[in-house]
Amino acid sequence: MTEAADTKDEAARKLFAGACDFIWGATSAEQLPPEKLNEVAFVGRSNAGKSSLVNALTGRKSLARVSQTPGATRQINFFDLGGRLMLVDLPGYGFAKRSKTEADSWQEMIFSYLRRRARLRRVLLLIDARRGVMDSDKQVMALLDQTAVSYGLVLTKADELKAAERATVIAAAGQEARKHTAALAEIQLTSALKGDGIPELRTHLAALAQ
Ligand code: GDP
Repeated sequence: MTEAADTKDEAARKLFAGACDFIWGATSAEQLPPEKLNEVAFVGRSNAGKSSLVNALTGRKSLARVSQTPGATRQINFFDLGGRLMLVDLPGYGFAKRSKTEADSWQEMIFSYLRRRARLRRVLLLIDARRGVMDSDKQVMALLDQTAVSYGLVLTKADELKAAERATVIAAAGQEARKHTAALAEIQLTSALKGDGIPELRTHLAALAQ
């Protein structure tokens, strides 16, 4: 690794080891806080491992709640990371019990958020690595393409895969990403449980901070 890359990794580690405070929960697009920092939003199917990933990134046990009842969170939660980057936890989607009305209201809320945030730098779309990209994920990718916010696929729960399966799962997600205009080609593989890919993701996000 080059010296410059080392320095970036170290700066990212420090950023995520520092303060991270919950500042606001919005239950509708009308309640969004003023934009004071660049933002990175996390989205995924309920149970994809979003809360666990946010907790692993920030080295905290319960910053973002790890849900017992999938899909219970219906809030957009804002976390100020060291006054340099806003981590935005979007409500999960795709829970089978949900009615069409609920799915519509989810979409409306997310769409208003995505359209209103001029300082939204990136969306991370979390995908359970064991399941791969599902239909509901593809629908969200289409929504993101429409708003033209650049997004990256982050595979979660890498520890559940056998070493030999990893490349195949990454390749399949990459193939899906290439079909979408606003998706980044690079796929991140992470494990909140074991820490795989977490430092890399921190470095990636730190580059979007100010
Ligand atoms: P969310 O609904 O997307 O916020 O998902 P959670 O973070 O609540 O996680 C859903 C379930 O997946 C929980 O039972 C977690 O313990 C589990 N999980 C999350 N991350 C990992 C991981 O990296 N590895 C494994 N094996 N399980 C995980």
